[in-house]
Amino acid sequence: MEMQWLQHGEPLPGLEARGPYADGVAVFVTTGDGRRKPELGYDADGRAASPRERELLAAALGLDGSRLVFMEQVHGGMATAVDESAAGAGVESRATAVRGADALVTACGELALVGLSADCPLVALWDSDGAVCAVAHAGWRSTTAGIVRQTVEAMVRLGARAERIRAALSPAIGPCCYEVQSDLVEAMTSAGAAREEDFLRREGRVYLDLGAAVKKQLIDSGVERERISGAFACTMCGVGQFHSYRRDGARAGRQAMGVRLRAGR
Ligand SMILES: [Zn+2]
Repeated sequence: MEMQWLQHGEPLPGLEARGPYADGVAVFVTTGDGRRKPELGYDADGRAASPRERELLAAALGLDGSRLVFMEQVHGGMATAVDESAAGAGVESRATAVRGADALVTACGELALVGLSADCPLVALWDSDGAVCAVAHAGWRSTTAGIVRQTVEAMVRLGARAERIRAALSPAIGPCCYEVQSDLVEAMTSAGAAREEDFLRREGRVYLDLGAAVKKQLIDSGVERERISGAFACTMCGVGQFHSYRRDGARAGRQAMGVRLRAGR
């Protein structure tokens, strides 16, 4: 697994970490230390909740905070390619984030693409040969809208080849906790976004393994199974490590997953 999981510059315990840029790419996810969790999201007014923690995150990747790029994340299926001109989008406020996007794709090594989540899986993707990377926000609505395929296709348009792409899934709400209702089951299965085996039935309730559905979409989009890795930690169970909307409701913060190509490529 050639990737780097960082907690403000420190490897995340329990996940395999190699040197930054081992594969021409750095991938990071933020996590709490058991007592407090960094808050990478926005406050109720749409301003960065903790500009300081965003700066720390950027510094861990050797970048200034103004080189981060955030997206609006509207639970849709749109992947947007960005270049230098997007630097700083969404850094100070959600109003300036890349409009309408649930995935960002770039060939620019001087940017770090950032996704925010409090339960939804985030996916970092990269083709170091093609020098293209991406981050996708793959909640159930975006997954149903085809965000994974849209992201891979946008990467291919920038020079990636699907069979060379590596993908890493962030921690997300797991099938231990993600109880869903029949309307979600119907929406995802009728769109071909989840299979019967992605739904687990226990004591009359239905639970979704969204990570498995996302993985299937990656494979269906041409990404090889052995090139997909991930942290299968559950955000709702990980009280001291992760933010969870299911657990904490409107007061939940956000963790971040980001990806950056090696600078100067
Ligand atoms: Zn759980």
